[in-house]
Amino acid sequence: MATRNIRIDGDSILRKVCKPVKEMNFRTSVLIDDMFDTMHAANGVGLAAPQVGILKRIVVIDVGDGTPLTLINPEITEEEGEQLGSEGCLSLPGLSGNVKRPMRVVCKALDREMREITVEGEGLLARAICHELDHLDGILYKDRAEDGLYETE
Ligand code: ZN
Repeated sequence: MATRNIRIDGDSILRKVCKPVKEMNFRTSVLIDDMFDTMHAANGVGLAAPQVGILKRIVVIDVGDGTPLTLINPEITEEEGEQLGSEGCLSLPGLSGNVKRPMRVVCKALDREMREITVEGEGLLARAICHELDHLDGILYKDRAEDGLYETE
């Protein structure tokens, strides 16, 4: 396991649409381990594969509730309510912005054994799922920030 370099806003790879994962193999399994290491080392709550330069539909999320999530080929199937809150991104260090997200989402995905899973998220988890899934389509939270970004450090 190892950390990888996080791509920073301005890198064109962050604007690309990622490809679905067809099968689990050693390379992808190592990638997922490295994504967790990279996210935890940077004190993030989520990381998407394009942020480490890999254009695959994989995200990892750990909001600190004891259930780290690996979501492969994820899709939001239900969303409900609304929350406006501060958001940041490891690819835009030192910045935050206010983004409107659903209060609750249901997400279908595959886990790292390529089994179908359904994850329900509220509050911070709903926000993290939406943020990370956006990365897979080349969308950054700054595109959705209501009043632009502000410095947090
Ligand atoms: Zn991000």
